[in-house]
Amino acid sequence: TDFNDYQLSEEITRALKELKYQQPTEVQQRVIPLALDKKDLVVKSQTGSGKTAAFGIPLCELVEWEENKPQALILTPTRELAAQIKEDLTNIGRFKRVKATAIYGKQPFKRQQQELKQKTHIVVGTPGRVYDHIQKETLSLEKISYLIIDEADEMFNMGFLEQVEGIIEVLPTNRVTSIFSATIRGDVERISQTYMNEPVLVEV
Ligand code: AMP
Repeated sequence: TDFNDYQLSEEITRALKELKYQQPTEVQQRVIPLALDKKDLVVKSQTGSGKTAAFGIPLCELVEWEENKPQALILTPTRELAAQIKEDLTNIGRFKRVKATAIYGKQPFKRQQQELKQKTHIVVGTPGRVYDHIQKETLSLEKISYLIIDEADEMFNMGFLEQVEGIIEVLPTNRVTSIFSATIRGDVERISQTYMNEPVLVEV
């Protein structure tokens, strides 16, 4: 398997070449075709497996450049991870000029508010701050078609379950949802049963 098998656009293929991603990792081989096919996924995977690109490549491929409002929302437990994911998406989407915005706590709300007024395709953030922006109506949800819940078990262990549920409840129901987690038990399983549409289970 190589990345050419996925019929990705020229812009994305070129970015992967520049990043020196030659072969998709195992999780990427499993996830990319299903994600491009817009399936809901529950993915059991570890950090270091290449899972960020597993959801990042299809997202960058699927977002419509012309749309100014955010089309994808990624929830992640920590600021560091949010910043890292934003950077990875920016690299993967470089030649398509995909714009990713990171929003997280302990950073000026106003500046994020300004950034969210600009064109942005993908918003990645921690649940608390994302929830704040939703309540203050500084994050537009109407065009959100993709939701990624990253490191779900970690996020729920940190006490973000209620906020994550609060966010899911106000998103458009006509969307594709994927959960990535090291373990799929308890809350992760319940969330997938409650808010997802016949999810495909991927274990690597
Ligand atoms: P992650 O599990 O998303 O944190 O990724 C772990 C590391 O693997 C990151 O530094 C990525 O840039 C790198 N990576 C992801 N996919 C590939 C690939 N297909 N080939 C080479 N490196 C990759």
